[in-house]
Amino acid sequence: MAVSLNRIQKNLDAVRAAIAGACGRCGRDPNDIAIVAVTKSVEIDTIRNLVDAGITDFGENRVRDLVAKADDLAGYLRRRRKPVPGPVRWHMVGHLQRNKVKKVLEFAGMIHSVDSLRLSEEVSVRAARVGTEMDILLQINCSEESQKYGCAVGAAPHLGEMISSLPGLRLRGLMTMGPLRGGKEGARNSFRRLREIFDEMKKDRIGGRDFQHLSMGMTDDYEIAVEEGATILRIGRALFE
Ligand SMILES: *Cc1c(COP(=O)(O)O)cnc(C)c1O
Repeated sequence: MAVSLNRIQKNLDAVRAAIAGACGRCGRDPNDIAIVAVTKSVEIDTIRNLVDAGITDFGENRVRDLVAKADDLAGYLRRRRKPVPGPVRWHMVGHLQRNKVKKVLEFAGMIHSVDSLRLSEEVSVRAARVGTEMDILLQINCSEESQKYGCAVGAAPHLGEMISSLPGLRLRGLMTMGPLRGGKEGARNSFRRLREIFDEMKKDRIGGRDFQHLSMGMTDDYEIAVEEGATILRIGRALFE
């Protein structure tokens, strides 16, 4: 069943208030922080309600679901009479296989989960072929848990430097997931580490002016992520519960 517009608005108000609170604690401007609504647990009716609540950025962690929902939403927005709050953008946030890159380029505006040279080369070749530039983030396994995707901490700056020199893509920043175990302190340590790697790469001018974003923080840890410098939060459950 769809999550109602009313409930989404209440949840979104609560999330925005929590973001504002975290910003107050560390002297940041809430306008510098984007919310990507991760819709993997909801259907198209709920996504339409998200649009009505003012959300324009959506994330999925499987290519097939991203394509289906992006296509559905585009059809809905063409038929809809009410104005759209802004251009809609889909974010691929889950592990990506090279054979699915072509599809993702058709439907997504940003890939958060690039974690190897081979994958970035595939994005580069395919995007250059159709004459576009794809926004990507380098995913780093900051907590160094073996079961997680993301490149190793030590490899990140060099990998980022190689990726940023490829045509057909723009390296826009870094992404990480909090640790599966380790609670709030574990999350804070991972986010802090991502920020340190970001600062180091920025100092070395990797990615140039495009290099601006830290995608970190989900339902259980987004306030910590804001305190540690996140510019993109990927939030699912907090919007739908
Ligand atoms: C599901 C998911 C999220 C959102 O998680 P919630 O805990 O529902 O907020 C964020 N990022 C990725 C990569 C995800 O798969």
